[in-house]
Amino acid sequence: MPIENDGVMIILSSPSGAGKTSLVALLSKLKNFEVSISHTTRKPRPNETPNQDYYFVNEEEFNRLIKNQEFLEYAKVFNNLYGTTRTQVINYLNNGKNVLFDIDWQGADQIKNKKLDYKLITFFILPPSKEILFERLSSRDMKDKLIAEDRMKQFEHDVLHWINYDYVVINDNLESCYLKIKKLIEAEIKNGSKDYDKEFIRRHVENLTS
Ligand code: 5GP
Repeated sequence: MPIENDGVMIILSSPSGAGKTSLVALLSKLKNFEVSISHTTRKPRPNETPNQDYYFVNEEEFNRLIKNQEFLEYAKVFNNLYGTTRTQVINYLNNGKNVLFDIDWQGADQIKNKKLDYKLITFFILPPSKEILFERLSSRDMKDKLIAEDRMKQFEHDVLHWINYDYVVINDNLESCYLKIKKLIEAEIKNGSKDYDKEFIRRHVENLTS
């Protein structure tokens, strides 16, 4: 059972390019919310700041963290390793901070299966259409253009994991998507009523994959 004053774990996952990172950035500005900073073996993008966006490490260091059992979860995504270390997250939660995780479905599954003594709310973010997703992936930067098509292919597989999340939210507009997630988190924490239509989401996924 979660202790009343403990923070809540909030996972946001999505196929690449659905806008989840911007949503996490907005949510992190809320009072008492912190972001879990992941370790990765991926190289930094030009707009990324080390130790703020990620802890960028080499494979040797990543493997050392695995061996020392420092990860709450880790996974290989697009040929790079990504992982969440335990200590920082647990400290935040024990101090009553809500922790936001920008991680993929493999990490979300691992954290779910750990059945930790903290409340967990999971969100899966979807793009409004495949066309918009491709635009978003292509416009990131020149280097990413080369891999946009690969990530589109990956999309078809990743989207199928929507079913394992508590809520699926469509990111057609950053601000309204943010407000929807914020409301759902508040409703979950206060045990209030949740405005959520799972059948609508099921139809949207069918459209995205048809
Ligand atoms: P990107 O390289 O675009 O920043 O992230 C690629 C994918 O890896 C995204 O879906 C992101 O959510 C996921 N990711 C980032 N950090 C972690 C992590 O610590 N663990 C897991 N499992 N996935 C992560």
